[in-house]
Amino acid sequence: MVNISVKLEAQLPQGLASLLREIGEIAEARGESAYLVGGVVRDVLLGRSNFDFDVVIKGRAISLARQLARDKGWDIRTHPRFGTAKLLWEDFSLDLVTARSETYDRPGALPTVKAGNIEDDLARRDFTINAMCICLNPRIFGDLLDPHGGQVDLEQKLVRILHHQSFVDDPTRILRALRYEQRLGFQLESETNDLLIKHLTNLDTVTGERLWHELELILEEDLPETIILKANALGILQRLGIPLSNDEGLTECFVTARSVHDQSLSLHSISLALLAHRMDSEEIEGCITRLKMPGWATRVLRDTLHIMESVPSMEALDILPSEIYRMLKPLIPEVIASAAITSNSPTVQERLEIFLYNWRYVKPEITGTDLQKMGVSPGKQLGEILKALHDARLNQTVTNRDEEEILTRKLL
Ligand code: ATP
Repeated sequence: MVNISVKLEAQLPQGLASLLREIGEIAEARGESAYLVGGVVRDVLLGRSNFDFDVVIKGRAISLARQLARDKGWDIRTHPRFGTAKLLWEDFSLDLVTARSETYDRPGALPTVKAGNIEDDLARRDFTINAMCICLNPRIFGDLLDPHGGQVDLEQKLVRILHHQSFVDDPTRILRALRYEQRLGFQLESETNDLLIKHLTNLDTVTGERLWHELELILEEDLPETIILKANALGILQRLGIPLSNDEGLTECFVTARSVHDQSLSLHSISLALLAHRMDSEEIEGCITRLKMPGWATRVLRDTLHIMESVPSMEALDILPSEIYRMLKPLIPEVIASAAITSNSPTVQERLEIFLYNWRYVKPEITGTDLQKMGVSPGKQLGEILKALHDARLNQTVTNRDEEEILTRKLL
């Protein structure tokens, strides 16, 4: 049995390592067993940092989590139906889950879950590199359980499924495999690769929500475009309702998005809009339906369609800033940023960028309250004057409060 307690303690911040020991001691005192599982074990062995801890309890996870939360004064969220609890403090989160086994009644369906032991819990996982665990109980603290050969695959840089039916049971693992392959710089083990290709059509059995969840995880990776291009080449994106018939230049767009990225905008939404830019209206609606997209993502896709329609008119020489403002104001800023990245016209690019960094913040100094003090009663006229002042500011026909007052009197 390999013991990696020295490695674990060297790699984790002091407080976290002692927290794991504490969990093991609490479990021991309760006559239960605790194990650190999943991604964090893989990352400790690889020397990568990962502070999202998953702990499996052979026993009652929620009750143990409540005891820990009470002792520490931490917030706790529980899901009694799934036997899981989440503890939150500072930047870290700790999930405690009751050990379970899973069986699949039909491809793509959610599994039937039963209480199990740690071996069952590891056997339900996606890849060998994610199917290892570290014992936390005191006398065996740091012992590594690796029943599926995860360490060898880590050394050989391979993503390998645990059994032949894996992609049939849960086809979302197809997307997960590409994600780990890219993130870790690994390769799909050859049989895993063959089975992944063989079972691509099983993605059609998965609900939109689950596919969307995996697509979001891909968009959150450091280099999502690498995964997206491979998924497109394999015909996977097509099955998700994202038929990218042309993916030329996609990498450059993602690289530009990262280099010009402004912290106030969500890179994740910009990435989604970059994909939507390559789809037509029918494809966009098909994708929204297939992936049962949440409201914000639906808006990114539909706003992208609107901006693609508006962009040609933005090239006109005589178009006013206020006209561009009215076109762009209803759209979410990330969509505008992605249109600036994809546009071939320097004029359009410049105008979109000025809107993002300047025009969208421009406001007249005179407010509705000021106008009422000047005798304008609330209603249509007041709204029209405010709009005229705003347009004048954008078009720089007025540049300060005095000029705004002169214009207001003229309008009155
Ligand atoms: P990490 O990158 O650290 O693995 P993640 O956010 O990519 O984390 P999660 O989706 O949180 O992964 O999953 C955590 C663990 O749960 C994985 O390491 C894996 O062992 C298991 N897991 C998640 N999804 C599946 C799945 N569809 N099938 C089997 N096991 C899964």
